[in-house]
Amino acid sequence: MEEIQTFVTHLECSYTGKIYPADQLHGLSEAGKPLLVKYDLDALAKAIDKEDLEGRLPEFWRYREFLPVRKASNIIRLGELMTPILPAEKLQNEYGCGEILIKDEGRLPTGSFKARGLALAVAMAKELGVKRMAMPTNGNAGAALAAYCSAADIETYVFCPEDTPKVNIEEIAFQGGKTFLANGYINDCGRIVGEGKEVMNWFDASTLKEPYRIEGKKTMGLELAEQLDWDVPDVILYPTGGGTGLIGMWKAFNELEAIGWIGPKRPRMVAVQAEGCAPIVKAFDEGTRHAEPWVDAHTIASGIRVPVAVGDFLILDAVRESNGFAVAVSDESIFEAHQECARKEGILLCPEGAATLAALKQELASGRIKADEQVMLFNCATGLKYPMPSTHHKIDLGKPIDYDFIRDC
Ligand SMILES: *Cc1c(COP(=O)(O)O)cnc(C)c1O
Repeated sequence: MEEIQTFVTHLECSYTGKIYPADQLHGLSEAGKPLLVKYDLDALAKAIDKEDLEGRLPEFWRYREFLPVRKASNIIRLGELMTPILPAEKLQNEYGCGEILIKDEGRLPTGSFKARGLALAVAMAKELGVKRMAMPTNGNAGAALAAYCSAADIETYVFCPEDTPKVNIEEIAFQGGKTFLANGYINDCGRIVGEGKEVMNWFDASTLKEPYRIEGKKTMGLELAEQLDWDVPDVILYPTGGGTGLIGMWKAFNELEAIGWIGPKRPRMVAVQAEGCAPIVKAFDEGTRHAEPWVDAHTIASGIRVPVAVGDFLILDAVRESNGFAVAVSDESIFEAHQECARKEGILLCPEGAATLAALKQELASGRIKADEQVMLFNCATGLKYPMPSTHHKIDLGKPIDYDFIRDC
């Protein structure tokens, strides 16, 4: 399986429609906007059937015809399994709502769905001869970049805001990424990468500033449709930072409809942000197509602390076309939802995943999500990466064991 059958025809500027050749290294378009990969979908439709997928490994490379990698030898495999969809029945009964499903992305390599995007970006970088990559990150993307690049013998430079979760910083460095902490936000780190291109001769792997991370995140849409027997949920709640996953899934649904594997039904796409950093929500509420940079961004959900998103219009277009909306939740409600899901369902979400549950509760109450809708929440990373409150009790072995104390705790 050296040559993979691929159907890429070209790349296209997502803003102007200008066409760029495939099989060359690209960053943003000349208009400074993300490039999207385009495929010959008619040929793809003729080449494979849904049934062809059945005999393939339960990993996202089963969708290889929908992806741009041409040579199997450029694929790095770290265990890109299909992630489970977990029903949250107790919460569903308690809220008295339709089905709640949680797509648990925390089981992917490096513990987050950033592995999907970076597996693709690094495979394509390898295919196109890149030797050094750099990126700004709030943590998980840097970890995935470091892991895949180390495996691919590509050098990595990673720049994090100084309050990035400690585990993330250490795992990036431990997996071979040259790791730097800067006293600013992710967009400040992005500037270091952008301005350093000439002197450092690195390839900029920032969110949406290269075309292939979206293609990797697109596999979430392909996968959930296959898992739902080629259907889509009524509503998807997605914790939105740069929006790669939301844009990627939207692209997946359009491609699946074009080849006749799903019908015209689309989920209502809901972009969930934190009240302390909600540029997309503000733009949605104000009816604009672009978001203004958010000042003084802060939230416990670091993965969605993204003050500026280059793909803002792509997120907003998808949300509006789908008849969805953008919504902000407070850190307190994120914390509550985090704890509630762990205690009642035995599912340890990441704070960003908890934000989607907080948003669901809030919007069931407001009526923007109806009680009969099937809802899919995205848990984007393993909860084990994040600090948890200390709630245990101590025992002094120098004293008799006090079982009354233990029982009453
Ligand atoms: C990156 C990240 C997000 C945001 O994903 P985008 O697709 O870039 O919007 C959400 N949660 C976690 C845990 C992340 O690492």
